[in-house]
Amino acid sequence: MWQKLQARLEQRKAQDLLRQRLTLEGAQSVRIKAEGREYLNFSSNDYLGLANHPKLIEAMQKAAGKYGVGSGASHLIIGHSDQHHALEEELAEFLGVERALLFSTGYMANYGVLTSLPEKNDLIIQDKLNHASLIDGGMASPAKMLRYAHADLDSFERQMKQPAESRLVVTDGVFSMDGDIAPLPELAASCNKHKASLMVDDAHGFGVLGKQGKGSLEHFNLAQQTADIYMATFGKALGGFGAFVAGNDLLIESLIQFGRSYIYTTAMPAAVAAANRAGLKLIQQESWRREQLHKNILYFHRLASEYDIPLMPSETAIQPVLIGRNDKTLAISRALKEAGILLVGIRPPTVPENSARLRVTLTAEHSTDDIDYLLEHLALQIKQAKYNAERGNG
Ligand SMILES: *Cc1c(COP(=O)(O)O)cnc(C)c1O
Repeated sequence: MWQKLQARLEQRKAQDLLRQRLTLEGAQSVRIKAEGREYLNFSSNDYLGLANHPKLIEAMQKAAGKYGVGSGASHLIIGHSDQHHALEEELAEFLGVERALLFSTGYMANYGVLTSLPEKNDLIIQDKLNHASLIDGGMASPAKMLRYAHADLDSFERQMKQPAESRLVVTDGVFSMDGDIAPLPELAASCNKHKASLMVDDAHGFGVLGKQGKGSLEHFNLAQQTADIYMATFGKALGGFGAFVAGNDLLIESLIQFGRSYIYTTAMPAAVAAANRAGLKLIQQESWRREQLHKNILYFHRLASEYDIPLMPSETAIQPVLIGRNDKTLAISRALKEAGILLVGIRPPTVPENSARLRVTLTAEHSTDDIDYLLEHLALQIKQAKYNAERGNG
């Protein structure tokens, strides 16, 4: 095994695909400290600037004083506190659904739903660009998984025609590496027609999209119940950690009884649940954060077009700049880092071959000066990379 692993690592390196971690020396924010220097951050999912918000910090500190740190057990044994319970009830009320259930991470929520609910003669039908946790859950499920070309309704309808006892259609609300929003009205109409169920993973929509921040369904003015299974995370716009699934009582009770990634794991610390509650309150009280983010997205679009930087069709906080080659993407990312900008390159297998990209994420905390600085340097580096390629040294 070890010899083969060595070879695999060397192959990754040769393809410019080796991943490296940056070690932060402070809070997640628009300005972050790392390697003894301050950087302007365009790679965080902290869309509303809540990860370092005083109200979340206070909620967590206060709860840690009362509940301690470790939750001590799984939810079903003795780890479920009134902080967890209140968070579930507040989520259900905010979304207008019967119940919500906490999971330690979004990965585990998706994996738990897909491995425990659909059965042997059922079909799971997924968008090809769905998050890895949905694809992994679908592969490990006793049901058969089919995938359709990204957001392609013809391809989707072909898969819906395959025979099955029941069908579960699964889509990201906002696609994490492309930033586009799923065609939810069309998917929902087809699910209705075929008596299929719909699951929406709204990790990048919850808190950000819709007037009230209820996410991608609200964005389309669709009722929350349009998604039989709604999943979202606390680790992105809400500035916290963990995830939840929301829906009717039958869904939640089934997950409590059968969801192995729910049952066989320690509950998130109560202090984390308390911080998540503070985040949930802020997305309701401070709608200006969503409005500011939206203004920043429009400003970024306008400036990118002035600089002739081609963007992908996204109206969300995720604004990828497609580069293509891995080495070129890395080179631009490195040059930006020299200029004090953190913009991490996203390479295969996270994205398809030859579609490496610089995935810009905007937040409510970026100023127009920050966006000016990014685009000025990005335009320069893209030009430089093109010049190098034409001279044959890129
Ligand atoms: C981040 C993300 C997840 C995983 O959530 P974690 O809480 O980070 O495990 C799931 N789905 C999508 C679309 C995501 O972007």
